[in-house]
Amino acid sequence: MSETHEYEVAVVGGGPAGLTAALYTTRLGHDTVVVNRGGGRAAMMADTHNVIGVTEEVSGVEFLQTAREQIQEYGADYVRGYIEDAERRDDGRFHLHGGERDFVADRVVLATGFTDVQPGPPLPPTGRGLHYCLHCDAYMFVDQPVYVMGTGEAAAHVAMILLNFTDDVDLLTRGDDPEWSEETDRQLRAHPVDIVHEEISGMEKDDDGWLAGFEFEDGSFREYRGGFPMYGSDYNAELVEQLDCERNDDGTVVVDDAFETTTDGVYAVGDLTPGHKQIPVAMGEGANAGIDIHYGLREFPKSVEELEAEGEVSAEQVPSVSDDLREAAHEFRAEGDD
Ligand SMILES: Cc1cc2nc3c(=O)[nH]c(=O)nc-3n(C[C@H](O)[C@H](O)[C@H](O)COP(=O)(O)OP(=O)(O)OC[C@H]3O[C@@H](n4cnc5c(N)ncnc54)[C@H](O)[C@@H]3O)c2cc1C
Repeated sequence: MSETHEYEVAVVGGGPAGLTAALYTTRLGHDTVVVNRGGGRAAMMADTHNVIGVTEEVSGVEFLQTAREQIQEYGADYVRGYIEDAERRDDGRFHLHGGERDFVADRVVLATGFTDVQPGPPLPPTGRGLHYCLHCDAYMFVDQPVYVMGTGEAAAHVAMILLNFTDDVDLLTRGDDPEWSEETDRQLRAHPVDIVHEEISGMEKDDDGWLAGFEFEDGSFREYRGGFPMYGSDYNAELVEQLDCERNDDGTVVVDDAFETTTDGVYAVGDLTPGHKQIPVAMGEGANAGIDIHYGLREFPKSVEELEAEGEVSAEQVPSVSDDLREAAHEFRAEGDD
C-alpha cells in the first residue's frame, strides 16, 4: 500500500525552474514538496555559464545540490521519485502518484523540462565538444573550429549563427538528406559554412579531454573544438497531457504571465514553456509561478465578503504558516545567529 503525503504545493521536477518555484512557495509559507527523478538538463552541465553570481567551474550537479539544500533548509520536502500519474479529483485537489508514494496538493507546478534528441555515436563528452546550448557555450568557440550536426532548419540556422563567433563552421548531415527549405539553402550557400555529407566514422580527443576532431567515411579528418547537435527536443509532457493543459505546436506548454497553464491551479515553468532555454529564465519563471501561487493560497487579508461571512480575524488565527514551516524558519534564524 502506498503512503499519501499532503501539501499545499507539489512541484514535479527538481531542476532550476522547479527548485526556484519551491524556494518561493516555501519561504512564502506554503508546505511544498519537490518530486524529482534526477538527471535533467541542468545536471548535464559540465560548467555553469550565464548565471550571475555562480562561477563557471561549478558543475550542474553541484549547482543543483546547493539549491536542494537551500530549499530543504527553508522547510521544503525533497523526494527522489518519478510521478507517473496526475489528476484533479472531485475534492478539487490534485492527486499525484509515483512508485510507492501518493501526493495530494492544492497547486501543482510542472517543471519536467525536455530531453535533447541525441545523434548516434561517436560523440565527444557533453561539455567537452558536445554542446546543447548555443547561448551558453558559443562564447567558448570564439575563433575555434566548430561543427553543427543535423539536417533541419534549426541546424542550418545555428550553423550560420555561429559565424558571429568564428569563421570556421561545418554543418554535418552525417549521410542524411538535408530537410531545410530552399530559402534556407540559398542563405546557407551564401555564407561561409562547409556542408559535409559524409557520415562520421571516428573521433579523436585532445589530451585535455576535449574533442580534437572527427574522421569521416571518405577517410578525411576535420578538426573541431566542439559543436552542437540539432535534432530537436522531446518534451517531458505526460503529466501536462493528463492534466489537460494546452500545448503549443512546438510542444511547449501554453502559460499566462504568471506561468499558470490553461488548467486552473496547474503551473508550468522552465524548459517546458515557450522562450529561451536558460537557467536564469527558468529561475525567473519559477519565481513568478511561486509568487502567484502565494497570492492565491495566502490566508490574509480576508476580503470584506469573507469577513462578513466568517467574522473578524482573531489573534489566535494568525499566523497562517504551518507548524513545520514555522519551526524551520525558527531553526534557520537560529543558525544565522550562530
Ligand atoms: C549540456 C547542457 C548545458 C547547459 N548549460 C547551461 C548553462 O551553462 N547556462 C544556462 O543558463 N543554461 C544551460 N543549459 C540549459 C539549462 O540546463 C536549462 O535551460 C535548465 O536546466 C532548464 O531547467 P528546468 O528546471 O526547466 O529543466 P531540467 O533542468 O531539465 O530539470 C527537469 C527535471 O524534471 C525531472 N522530471 C521530468 N519528469 C519528471 C516526472 N514525471 N517526475 C519527476 N521528475 C521529473 C527531470 O528528471 C529533471 O530532473 C544547458 C543545457 C544542457 C543540456
